[in-house]
Amino acid sequence: DKIEQEYELAKTLGKGKFGSVVICRSRATGEEFACKTLLKGEEIVHREVEMMQHLSGHSGIVTLKAVYEDAESFHLVMELCSGGRLLDQMAKEGVYTEHKAANVIKELMLAIKYCHEMGVVHRDIKPENILLTPTGQMKLADFGLAVRILDGQSLSGIVGSPAYVAPEVLVGKYSEKVDIWSAGVLLHALLVGVLPFKGNSLDAMFDAIKKENLDFSGGMWDSVSRPARDLLSGMLTRSSSTRLTATDVLRHPWISFYTERTP
Ligand code: ADP
Ligand code: MG
Ligand code: MG
Repeated sequence: DKIEQEYELAKTLGKGKFGSVVICRSRATGEEFACKTLLKGEEIVHREVEMMQHLSGHSGIVTLKAVYEDAESFHLVMELCSGGRLLDQMAKEGVYTEHKAANVIKELMLAIKYCHEMGVVHRDIKPENILLTPTGQMKLADFGLAVRILDGQSLSGIVGSPAYVAPEVLVGKYSEKVDIWSAGVLLHALLVGVLPFKGNSLDAMFDAIKKENLDFSGGMWDSVSRPARDLLSGMLTRSSSTRLTATDVLRHPWISFYTERTP
């Protein structure tokens, strides 16, 4: 393979539905990267390559270094996020301080805002797909479910991870606002350490997503500030037309209060 002439493939970082991710080292410079191999054959795989090419370049999105193509697959050589996944950091950290949570949400929102401005809906925002650099900078990854949205056009089709999926995805047409909902689910998990919508089965969880209202009466909310709850309510607003946009989230007082400068 051409890629193997230039890179030495090493340790596996992750395995997914359409391929795997390994560490690779440039034979010329010794620099390390992450290489995601996607097996061809499904249209969705071509879309992921296109999306990465379209969006790579923003500091909050994993940078694509090169693409190699052979008969069976695409190899995406990306910047290596050796800080691991936000999910693993959350497991170690437990509940986040508001200061830390606000900084995570701000960085994520800058990346999501850029995607939306570029006409892309990510559709799979969750802490497995948010990676960290060695210095702790956040990088949005995994554009495998991302789609371009043309002016005013709406999307359909159920995709994403059950716990993070927006209610409108479950009932019909939707827009880029689904990414805000998913980020809201993440914010809930950061603030209180649990997901907002649960159930003993997938159907029960989807029912909760469609019908259950946020309930701030539990003791776990006592230590969460009013502005944090206000932002969470704005992101987890069931009606997508009144749900906050990425710009609204970035301008929210809770975000400005806990992050040094506003963009
Ligand atoms: P999938 O579509 O299969 O979920 P992802 O793009 O999310 O694929 O990658 C799967 C896993 O591989 C990630 O959760 C992460 O652990 C690891 N990974 C992916 N890209 C990188 C990267 N650039 N740097 C470090 N680890 C990565
Ligand atoms: Mg993924
Ligand atoms: Mg994927």
